[in-house]
Amino acid sequence: MDTFCSIQAEAEEPSAAAAVEKAFLELKRIEALFSRYISDSQISKLNEKGADSPVKLNKEAFRLIAYALQISRMTNGAFDITVGAAVDCWRLSQNQDCLPSTNQLQELQTRIGFENLHLDYTQDSVFFAKPGMYIDLGALAKGYGLNRIITILKEEGIERALVNLGGNIYVLNMEPQIIAVRHPVFTDEAITTVKLMNTSISTSANYERCFTVEGRKFGHLINPLTGCPAESEILSVSIISSDAAFADALSTAVFISGYEKGRGLLDGLENAGGVIIYKGLQGKVEVYNNLKENFLK
Ligand code: AMP
Ligand code: MG
Repeated sequence: MDTFCSIQAEAEEPSAAAAVEKAFLELKRIEALFSRYISDSQISKLNEKGADSPVKLNKEAFRLIAYALQISRMTNGAFDITVGAAVDCWRLSQNQDCLPSTNQLQELQTRIGFENLHLDYTQDSVFFAKPGMYIDLGALAKGYGLNRIITILKEEGIERALVNLGGNIYVLNMEPQIIAVRHPVFTDEAITTVKLMNTSISTSANYERCFTVEGRKFGHLINPLTGCPAESEILSVSIISSDAAFADALSTAVFISGYEKGRGLLDGLENAGGVIIYKGLQGKVEVYNNLKENFLK
């Protein structure tokens, strides 16, 4: 998954070690299914043939894509797994230190759009309505992996654990644990803290995974409308939900949507809450927090 994973689990030995080992094996299984950089993964199979004819997937892969589509609709397309071609284009641009041309960007836009993803729910198959489309589960797979790790740990009888999968954190505990939210500018400092219990937190920010092309700095999240790295007055957004896949996807969506729309998305939700840190008037760093009292310090 091109990231790190740390699992701290508390139980009588040797069961904690065995549970953690099982959890890591599960992560490997998920990577083998969903990575588009593994040639026989479900996603590679789809990306290779999806524009020729519908590609039948296994149930788990089909369900995750269907879930991603649901989140795209809910977020008015801010979250969109069809950004694969744009991710590749900007990676190449970074490697060659050369910005894409206007023509390239126009062509790129025709290859993005969740409405071009046609799902057949009776066959578990997916078809790309436009040639040259690719899907990329980078903004969802870590959260999904985190959900699976927690399921395995619980099955193994673990009641207390702290899991961090590439910045997506899950607190498995019957007592609230304090988690710091990093300051997006002074990144060694905490800007606020949240208390979490049996839930996850996922952060999307512009202070990590940035790159530079022709002297200009870009973030790694793509605005699906333009095919370009998103510009947002949001500096970081952390979403809290017991469904880590949802938190992962939504943090990306709120970041892309910007403060006003992102806040609107957050406020309309029952099963999630969050903290948005953004540049307010005169560039002042502001914190918006819609978490219920008991999640706050
Ligand atoms: P995350 O680590 O959760 O911030 O996810 C970032 C990854 O998600 C990127 O590296 C891309 O692979 C992918 N991605 C970028 N922009 C979007 C978007 N608008 N919707 C869905 N996935 C995206
Ligand atoms: Mg995410």
